[in-house]
Amino acid sequence: MRFESIIGQERPIRFLTQMLQKRIIPHAMLFTGVDGIGKQTTARALGMALNCLSPVAVSACGECPSCQKVISGAHPDMITVKPEGAFIKIDQVRAVSRQLRFAPLEGNWRIVIINDAQAMNLEASNAILNILEEPPKGTVIILTATQTTDLLPTIVSRCQRVAFRPIPYEKVAKVLVELRGLDRQTATTLAVSTKGSLGKTLSVDGEKWTVWRTGLLEQIASLSIRSIQPVFAFADALARDKNRLADALDMIMTWFRDVLMCKVSPEKIINKDFMTKIQDASRRQSVNKLLEKVGAVYAAQTAISRNSNPRLTLEVMMMRVLK
Ligand SMILES: [Zn+2]
Repeated sequence: MRFESIIGQERPIRFLTQMLQKRIIPHAMLFTGVDGIGKQTTARALGMALNCLSPVAVSACGECPSCQKVISGAHPDMITVKPEGAFIKIDQVRAVSRQLRFAPLEGNWRIVIINDAQAMNLEASNAILNILEEPPKGTVIILTATQTTDLLPTIVSRCQRVAFRPIPYEKVAKVLVELRGLDRQTATTLAVSTKGSLGKTLSVDGEKWTVWRTGLLEQIASLSIRSIQPVFAFADALARDKNRLADALDMIMTWFRDVLMCKVSPEKIINKDFMTKIQDASRRQSVNKLLEKVGAVYAAQTAISRNSNPRLTLEVMMMRVLK
């Protein structure tokens, strides 16, 4: 949980360590970025560094009594709020508010981390706003959220914003090879499909995922517009598998991207274990046709994210990518 162990977030970490060096600590911060890229870990690392009894440069030592309490989740000045069910409710914020009336118990700083702040309902948001308007001394409030537009603009404007970017997939793949012992090909494709979210990647069962991915790519490679029944069956099966629909579309996108890449820079192909099939498909199609197909997959992703009917959307997409 030290700054050094956070992967692929050099810019936010540099910003925070410089802030600690200058001892200019904003009373409220907002960490934005997709899930699983280290926002919450960094928030805890920052809290640990602020209260560490023997910091190494500006990073927490990880060993002193204060650090040990942060690691075990028992530090009384480190308050974490997260959604209960779908929302962060007013009562949760009120409980924080009560604690903030008193000075920090042990540390120099009290750190309030509000995870997934976009889950605050309006009442909870207004209660946080009240706290941000009159920030208590010695308190740092860190909100994490996917994007600033998910929060009230009045909250955003009171926070120092720190943007976290998706981790480059090569870095995620490296961690998967080292930590999970996955082979390079599986690690790379898994990292690409989880879009640089290390947290999501580590939560996936590598073996099950490989079976799913291989099956999906084999189908997309073998389907043909000349035999329409299997195409509809494929679209129907994808639409029914709601939890994996977005992942499946991402995977289909990497397929057409690879077939296109094969023409321009084959070294960038992601699904290298499907090289022969990718080369076959690439030979049969023009760059323009392939660009249209990538566009069709993208259109389907957009439509589904806007709650259009999945089966109909997928059928239309399949007609366009197979023609
Ligand atoms: Zn320490």
